[in-house]
Amino acid sequence: MESSLGIQMDEPRAFSPLPDRLQADGSLKKHEQNSKLPGVKKDIEKLYEAVPQLGNVFKIKDKIGEGTFSSVYLATAQLQVGLEEKIALKHLIPTSHPVRIAAELQCLTVAGGQDNVMGVKYCFRKNDHVVIAMPYLEHESFLDILNSLSFQEVREYMFNLFKALKRIHQFGIVHRDVKPSNFLYNRRLKKYALVDFGLAQGTRDTKIELLRFVQSEVQQGSCSQNTSRVITGNKIPLSGPAAPKELDQQPTTKTSVKRPYTNTQIQIKQGKDGKDGSVGLSVQRSVFGERNFNIHSSISHESPAVKLIKQSKTVDVLSRKLAAKKKAVSTKVMNSGVTKKSTGPCPASQTCDCYATDKVCSICLSRRQQVAPRAGTPGFRAPEVLTKCPDQTTAIDMWSAGVIFLSLLSGRYPFYKASDDLTALAQIMTIRGSRETIQAAKTFGKSILCSKEVPAQDLRNLCEKLRGTETNAPQVTSDTQGSAHDPAVPEKTEHKASHLRQTPQAQHSGNSVYKAHRNGCGSCCDSNATSLEGWDRVPDEAYDLLDKLLDLNPASRITAEAALLHPFFKDMSL
Ligand code: ADP
Ligand code: MG
Ligand code: ZN
Repeated sequence: MESSLGIQMDEPRAFSPLPDRLQADGSLKKHEQNSKLPGVKKDIEKLYEAVPQLGNVFKIKDKIGEGTFSSVYLATAQLQVGLEEKIALKHLIPTSHPVRIAAELQCLTVAGGQDNVMGVKYCFRKNDHVVIAMPYLEHESFLDILNSLSFQEVREYMFNLFKALKRIHQFGIVHRDVKPSNFLYNRRLKKYALVDFGLAQGTRDTKIELLRFVQSEVQQGSCSQNTSRVITGNKIPLSGPAAPKELDQQPTTKTSVKRPYTNTQIQIKQGKDGKDGSVGLSVQRSVFGERNFNIHSSISHESPAVKLIKQSKTVDVLSRKLAAKKKAVSTKVMNSGVTKKSTGPCPASQTCDCYATDKVCSICLSRRQQVAPRAGTPGFRAPEVLTKCPDQTTAIDMWSAGVIFLSLLSGRYPFYKASDDLTALAQIMTIRGSRETIQAAKTFGKSILCSKEVPAQDLRNLCEKLRGTETNAPQVTSDTQGSAHDPAVPEKTEHKASHLRQTPQAQHSGNSVYKAHRNGCGSCCDSNATSLEGWDRVPDEAYDLLDKLLDLNPASRITAEAALLHPFFKDMSL
């Protein structure tokens, strides 16, 4: 395994030794201090201290990204004579699990380097610090360019995303965190790169050996007590001083999340005997918890507030609220009998007094959380992920691609903004219909109760309305309050309430959430010339493809391979 991966992690040096002329070049050790933020300068210094061999090779210039699990830096290196190359250095948080790190690297080394999938150049380690060196791809901030993209550019973007997804899915990699910040786009060069395999998992027949390891760990973690059993061995090419924290020791702060009161109440009724233990491999990352320091970005996000949702708490809070607010729309997800078998070693769930009601009984409250892979970002999660279906496939990435496409067609990002799965599920229902969602969930063994029926929306109408390109739609004006990146479906109670209560007609006319603004200044800008390019005649094929991506049923959802052959891309070649 070790040799095929080509990574020697035990030596504090690059696994692909660099040319001698680069070693101990004194000038390279003098780091340039050209960072914009004072904190960044410190971080760079700390990184040199933590992994000193970096100084032999790289000049670290700036921090370009910071998420929950890593910080990414821009560096330069002179790898060929007279040629200075830009490199992205991803410094994984020291608490990252070795299996996780090795699996991420194996995805990059085996599947990466072609078809718009990021590759890897080197990997460095000292003690528990691991740094992955990748080719740097300068890229745009999605939000900054969203409303200036021509229709043709959107077509190319989606085509290239499917190309990357086809590639990784062929290797049996489920990315699990497909979203714009993980799909780098250089508009000028028309270059694309899918990055961040930090949450990837393998399909049953995955060709990425280490992902099989990650997956089995998750499954065992969910149903057995012995969550850290598989990690201790020397079987993985990472060992020694990098010895990890135990799986269930989260680097993240465990806080019970109090959901803001919303008018749509959803409950998840848990399967029995799920255990909290596997969170180390499936801890969710918040879309709001990421800062992007990319030079193209003009948006400053709030600093990360890492949340680890304890589902039992959430349910508890919900049930109390439910008791208090009788009129609330309530939704509830539970295992239906159909999939009892598929939960493997977990005992089948029993029915109880509260089965098929909008209450949660004490038996259910005392049940432990059902654990299924839930990694990713709430707004991009497929319904089967949100309802914790244990059998998840590459189809979940296709759903996420659909959500990106929805943003591109509607000009709204993020489209769904939900901090938890239940809110996210309610938001999906407002677009795809509650009856449809409930029906689809049955096919993968989940039953959802929803006290209020919301209709599915016509995707063309919805997108044109949001984008303001509908022929007789009221023009989107800039007089609405809110930030430029208002989601189309915000989490806020009032907005969601209006969503649920209004008929589609009502939504389209008055002060509905749909009037919330597009990115940019809306009415006064110039950019009509470019932004209207093609937007006045979006073909039906676009919405047909969107519909097939946002198929609530993962079994019939379009695959990346099929998407590339969809008529929407008829004149494009691979
Ligand atoms: P995380 O796991 O913390 O999300 P990512 O791998 O997604 O880490 O990287 C975080 C950010 O760093 C990305 O969203 C992107 O802006 C930047 N980044 C990552 N890899 C590269 C790269 N190879 N070239 C340029 N920027 C990159
Ligand atoms: Mg990322
Ligand atoms: Zn019950």
